[in-house]
This record gives sequence, C-alpha cells and structure tokens, in this order.
Amino acid sequence: MPAIIQAMRESIIKQGGEVHFNSRLTDLKIENNKIKAVQINSADWKNSTHLILATGHSARDIFELLDSKK
Ligand SMILES: Cc1cc2nc3c(=O)[nH]c(=O)nc-3n(C[C@H](O)[C@H](O)[C@H](O)COP(=O)(O)OP(=O)(O)OC[C@H]3O[C@@H](n4cnc5c(N)ncnc54)[C@H](O)[C@@H]3O)c2cc1C
Repeated sequence: MPAIIQAMRESIIKQGGEVHFNSRLTDLKIENNKIKAVQINSADWKNSTHLILATGHSARDIFELLDSKK
C-alpha cells in the first residue's frame, strides 16, 4: 500500500500537480461550473483548475462546502 500511494503521489507531481501535507481544503472558487482556485487552511488561495478530492465518507464539512457552491 505505501508503494501504491507513493506512486500515485509521484504521478500527480509528474503531471504538474501539487501535494500539500498537513493542509486542509477550506474553500473553493468556482466560476461557470469550473474550479478556479482552492483555499488551504482558511488562508492561502492557490489557482487550480483540477482537484483530486479524496476526503473520505465522513468529511461533512466538505459535503456542506460543495452543497453551498451549487
Ligand atoms: C475502525 C475502522 C476500521 C476499518 N477497517 C478496515 C479494514 O480492515 N479493511 C478495509 O478495507 N477497510 C477498513 N475500514 C474502512 C476504510 O478505513 C475506509 O474505507 C477507507 O479508509 C476510506 O478511504 P478514503 O481515502 O476514502 O477516506 P479516508 O481514509 O477517511 O481518508 C480521507 C482523508 O482526507 C482527509 N481530509 C478530510 N477533510 C479534508 C479537508 N477538508 N482537506 C484535506 N484533507 C481532508 C482526512 O484527514 C483523511 O486523511 C475501516 C474503517 C474504520 C473506521
């Protein structure tokens, strides 16, 4: 499993993605149904057009955030 996770991370980085450890997605900017930016730890905004959302089935805050952006 660790090798699989490491390979996934390396693949994301190879394709120009970023991985932020110990960071929390706290908000999203969406325009015309497309992601424009993500907010990390209620502070930094990072422009981004793609997002891998894998917060598990108990992340109520994320479901509420997504619901509020409809
Ligand atoms: C007690 C227990 C025992 C289990 N035992 C087994 C087992 O033996 N075998 C099995 O196959 N499955 C087991 N499961 C189920 C398994 O743990 C889950 O199915 C699996 O972990 C789900 O993976 P996931 O990546 O979707 O979510 P998670 O593993 O929950 O990962 C979600 C991650 O997202 C992070 N996150 C949440 N919100 C944010 C945010 N806003 N910004 C950034 N990050 C965020 C969380 O911190 C977490 O690290 C068990 C579950 C529990 C609770």
